Parts: sequence; structure tokens; C-alpha cells
Amino acid sequence: MERRVYIETFGCQMNEHDTERILRLLEGSHYLETKNAKEADFILINTCSVREKPEHKVYSALGRYKWLKEKRGVIIGVAGCVAQQEGDKLLDRVPYLDMVIGTHAIPMLPQLLKKIEFSGQRVCETGFDPEGNYLKTILPPKPLDKVNLSAPRSEDRGLLKVHPEPRFVTQPLKAGLRVVERVKSYVTIMQGCDHFCSFCIVPYVRGREQSRSSREIIEEVEYLAEMGVKEVCLLGQNVNGYGKGLEEEIGFSELLGRINQIEGIERIRFTTSHPKDFSEKLIQAFSKLPKLCEHIHLPFQSGSDKILKAMHRGYTKESYLEKIDHLKEVCPSIALTADVIVGFPGEEEEDFKETLDLMGKVQYDDLFSFKYSPRKGTRAAQFQDRVEEKVKQERLSTLQEIQKEITLRKNQELEGRVKEVLVEGRSRQSAQDVAGRTRSNKIVNFGGNLELVGQLVPVRIIKAYPHSLRGEIIPTHCRSENAPAYQQAGVGK
Ligand code: SF4
Repeated sequence: MERRVYIETFGCQMNEHDTERILRLLEGSHYLETKNAKEADFILINTCSVREKPEHKVYSALGRYKWLKEKRGVIIGVAGCVAQQEGDKLLDRVPYLDMVIGTHAIPMLPQLLKKIEFSGQRVCETGFDPEGNYLKTILPPKPLDKVNLSAPRSEDRGLLKVHPEPRFVTQPLKAGLRVVERVKSYVTIMQGCDHFCSFCIVPYVRGREQSRSSREIIEEVEYLAEMGVKEVCLLGQNVNGYGKGLEEEIGFSELLGRINQIEGIERIRFTTSHPKDFSEKLIQAFSKLPKLCEHIHLPFQSGSDKILKAMHRGYTKESYLEKIDHLKEVCPSIALTADVIVGFPGEEEEDFKETLDLMGKVQYDDLFSFKYSPRKGTRAAQFQDRVEEKVKQERLSTLQEIQKEITLRKNQELEGRVKEVLVEGRSRQSAQDVAGRTRSNKIVNFGGNLELVGQLVPVRIIKAYPHSLRGEIIPTHCRSENAPAYQQAGVGK
């Protein structure tokens, strides 16, 4: 019998991708997704403890679903970073909670769910998996017309196999739909982090860096290409650390090189990079790999060396700027985004000015800015010299005002130019428009129908806004002006 699962997701792309993985995994246990919590048999809150007030958000979400437990006996679970961090304390505090499942335990979800269904027992699984099996991808079955019956089965290729063959033969439409619907897809290449920045909870809740084998990753990207996906975004907390601990000798830039050769994939992105590990090889990849998009998200967090040291970031303002300058030389059309924290303990006016100075020098296309707030269990949570809330807010507003102007000006520089846009779907602004992204990751809205979805089209930018661009499709296919660095170097696509 088919049942329904509703997942509420907090946080970053990694978490959203985990939600996708959970949904695929649960399809194998006959749980299909619903967008309406009221009709769910299983409600899962997939949590993030990186952003603000994580525990508070979890408890308030649990409070919202209590009546469904009382009325219909729905199963309720908490997954992700807060689950990892809090463990069975969550079960103690919320008597109607059935399941707590940590970041490494996702593959066990169907078994745990069965246990609850049959015995009513409450479960908590938050162990770390030193083998890295939790990173294996659960691929949906291919539609029938894409099945090569002589190909090796997924188990033989080291991928977790979820659906028995007969199920997708009888339900061909469901097969692959989650992927086929989309033109871009996320692929986890590693998880965890070895850096232990003093403000960050990630190494404690996601564990140490673990990479997937390149063979698994390549097979997944080939699969996605075959299903029509044009763009892949490689995910990891520190993608630059890719390859550490693997038996094979491979680093992140080599992995990018291999993915660049996969037919059907037109664009490659990745997130997130740590400036300390941002290597010369990776900088050169932006000029050598035609499919690598001209955009990088490189968090700097602060422009003050004193604060960077307290954050345990492992670089200085000068060494960060050197890397950025070099990157701009190698790839002049690169778009830059970053994360920055204001009001870290000990941040004085001078330190904040250093941050503004760094922003002025780099001229980011966009910034994700946050006020510092302590995370339980991190070193910085014990730092005493806290910045007043009012000061933090003032600094954040100042910084955001400055960045708003830079972002708008950078967008205005694109007016009148033609950009290659990968069309992703209906525009949120108008039912007559579609929306897509440039290689530099800017959103462009323009008139067009849904048949364009999945296509790379040349679009002239006619108007710039702070968060998006307005364009018009140009009728004849011609090359976009933002010919990537590989074209400037005379290498064909
Ligand atoms: Fe957290 Fe620092 Fe690792 Fe990024 S590099 S995930 S901020 S510990």
C-alpha cells in the first residue's frame, strides 16, 4: 500500500539534496511525497544547525505537527544536523517524536521506519559511518526507453539499489521523474569538514571529510546526462578537500576534468570552496575546462586578520585577495559571491572597516551576510568579548547597503549584452515568462514558452534589477558575449 511522506527542510543546498535522497530512498518503501502535511503518514523535519536558532525552529515545527500525531497517529521524525547534535535528548523532550536520525544514518531510514510501523518503538540513530556508505547515491530507475538490459546492475557498480525492477516496469511514469523534470541536478562528491572554524558546527554534525569514489560520481553524472540533465552542481562542505582518504590518487580539479568530458553535460558548478584550499590547479581549471561555469562562491567571513585568526580560518586578507586577483587574471569574466559574518566576538570598528575594504576591492556579484550568533558546542560560543546586538545590526545594514549598490551596478554592466541562458522553468514573476540562469549564475526572466525548458538560448539583457535580469531571447542562435575563458583562449566548445 502506498503511503505519503511530507518533508520540511531547513538550511543549505546540502540539506535540500539530502531531502531529495531521502525521497528517493522512501519511494522504495512505497512512501511517495506529498506537499501537504495533513495527508502525510510520515512527517520528517530535515534540520540544519548552521543558520539561526536551529533548535528553536525544530521545536516549533514539531509543535505544529503534534495535533496530527494525536488525531491520526502520524509518524514524526527529525533528521539532519540538529538530530545529529541533539540525539536522544530530542526524544526525551518531545514525547510524541518517533525518530531521530543523524546525518550519516540516512540509508537506514527505511528499516527504522519499518521498525516504528511494526513495533511502535521510538528510535534514535546518530552514529557516524567511517566507511562513507551513507554518501552512496540512490538513483531513481530509468524510464523504460532508457534501460539497457545488458548493462551491469547498480549493486555491481557500488550504487545503492532501491527499487526492485518490477516496480518501475509497472510504474514507468514515476521512474526517473524527479530527475527528468529538471535541467540541473546536485551531486554530492564529499561530506564533512576537517577545518573546525571556531564558529561552525559542521565538523561536529557532519563528521570529518569523506569523499565518494570518482567512479561512483562519474557514473551518477553519466546517468544524469542520459536523463537529460544539462547542469550539475557538485556538492560538499569543502569540495577543495575532495580525494582525501581515497585509495585512488585524485584531487578536485582532476575530478572536474573528468566530468567535463561527459557528453550531454553542458555546465558544471560546485559549492562550497574554502579559500585556504583554493589551489592553483583549480584556478587554472577555469581557463581549461569549457563546461566549468564562470562563477565561484568563496566565503571570506571577515576582512580583518585578527578576526580571521580568531575564526581559525587559516588565511589572511592579503592571501585571500591574491587568490582572487589571480583568478580574475585567469578568468576575467568570473562572477564572485561569498559569505561574510559581522559582529564576531572581538570585532571592533577597525576590523569591520577591513571587511568593507575587502568587499570594495573584490566587488562581489552578491554576498550572503549574517550576524554572528553562537552555536552550542563550538569554540567561539565560549568567547567572551561579544559584540552588542545593536552594533551587529548596524554593521549588517551598512554592509548590505554597500553590497546592494555593487550588485546592481554589476548587473547593469550586463545591459545590452547577450548571454547564454539555461532555461529552468516558468518565471516566478509572470506566467508569460520563463526563467533561467547565465553561466555566471544570474537569474534572467524573459518571454518564452515552456518548450524552452532545458535549452541553452542566447538572451539579450535589457534591464538589470538588484536580484535578477530582464531579457529578450534573440531569434537566431549566436554565441553569447560571455564566451568563457576557454573560448577566449581559442579552444572550441
Ligand atoms: Fe564550517 Fe569552516 Fe568547515 Fe566551512 S570550512 S564547513 S565554515 S568548519
